Amino acid sequence: MHHTPPKIAIGSFTVAFLTDGLWRNDGGCMFGVVPRELWKREHPPDEQNRIRLNLTCPLIIKGRDAVLVDTGIGNRLGAVEGKIFDHGEGWLLDHLRALGMEAGDVTHLIVSHLHFDHCGGIVRRRESGVLESSFPNARIFVQKGELAIAKNPRNERLRAAYKAAGEIVAIAERQFEAIDGDTEIVPGVMAVRTGGHTADHQIAAVQDGADSFVHLADIVPTRSHMRGPWNQAYDLDALRSMEEKARYLEQASGSKCWLSFAHDDSIFAARVRKEHGRFEITDRVPVSYAAEA
Ligand SMILES: [Zn+2]
Repeated sequence: MHHTPPKIAIGSFTVAFLTDGLWRNDGGCMFGVVPRELWKREHPPDEQNRIRLNLTCPLIIKGRDAVLVDTGIGNRLGAVEGKIFDHGEGWLLDHLRALGMEAGDVTHLIVSHLHFDHCGGIVRRRESGVLESSFPNARIFVQKGELAIAKNPRNERLRAAYKAAGEIVAIAERQFEAIDGDTEIVPGVMAVRTGGHTADHQIAAVQDGADSFVHLADIVPTRSHMRGPWNQAYDLDALRSMEEKARYLEQASGSKCWLSFAHDDSIFAARVRKEHGRFEITDRVPVSYAAEA
């Protein structure tokens, strides 16, 4: 099915919401200490306890600069993993085409962290089975701590979480640029280190005059995670995730700032307002195709 990604204007930037499609993951993993009875109201689980998720990849465009944030799962999964996560062929390249662009037009890539559902699409499996770099002209920015773990995971938990990362990084090695802390990628677009989900997780922020946009990636993976204690079981430092999300949500509250989420299956982006101690969504960029899926 052909879908044109929705767009918003952030000053002189355009942000288009691309997606690598829908997938499913275990609801318990996605909500950590939150009881199933609470999360299942907003995210009904299937018979395998999986909930439907998205793979949101904002594309920030201005002039010749095209900054993609994250790449989804891509097409590198084998049949078994593809079934576990219920992910088909990615739509990222289709969505680029719908914007009149090609993979070669992506100039910069900000990767929030090197888990498979964010870095998988850096590579693409050709029909021959060979993996190649998906965005051959892009400079790829990732925090140096993430790269170090991908190359040498120190323990079993990290080895499991970064299972795919070593191979992916090796294929696109010449394109990677390790950054250390907050870094301006192009004028007005920042990669900002948050930690929390992983030790060196980063988010992407766009500022132009009074307009702003922040892709919170796995700091707020779905709209439900706007609640302080709702964090993923994967978070290495859940308290840090809580602090970071509170900071960005407070800043955005009642302002024009758009926030987007890595995995929400119904909302690409939202504006928020704090009401009686809770963050409510006041404006939204809906995921239109999800209703048809
Ligand atoms: Zn994720």
